[in-house]
Amino acid sequence: MECDVYGRAMWRWPVPSTVWEEELWSCSWCHAATHVGGEWFEVARPPYLPAEMRWERAVPDGLPADVSHAFVIFDRTLCGIQEADMSPSGHLWLPERENACGACWEAAGVIDGRWPQAMRGDDARVSVARRL
Ligand SMILES: [Zn+2]
Ligand SMILES: [Zn+2]
Repeated sequence: MECDVYGRAMWRWPVPSTVWEEELWSCSWCHAATHVGGEWFEVARPPYLPAEMRWERAVPDGLPADVSHAFVIFDRTLCGIQEADMSPSGHLWLPERENACGACWEAAGVIDGRWPQAMRGDDARVSVARRL
């Protein structure tokens, strides 16, 4: 699957299908998410989010607990730390927190800069509704 933002390759998350989505894809370049299948959409493409609202905090399994890193994929933080059992915490990663990782924030800025202005509108990305 190709990303609608730039046409770059996406990778599929190794998560089981649910009622809400059959497949979850992320762009390797701009990290835009695309959800395939589910109850309401054939393809759902959530709109652009600013860098400080886009990432989940990594659960600090094997990470020093005094620094908060942003979770990016499988086993990696935004700043590139790799730990086998890492997972997203379900909570937003807040870069303005005192203990937020600076390298994560830098990487978040780089990824944010890859989004063209034209793709940042609420309806810039096109979702396909399921015909019922
Ligand atoms: Zn992309
Ligand atoms: Zn980090």
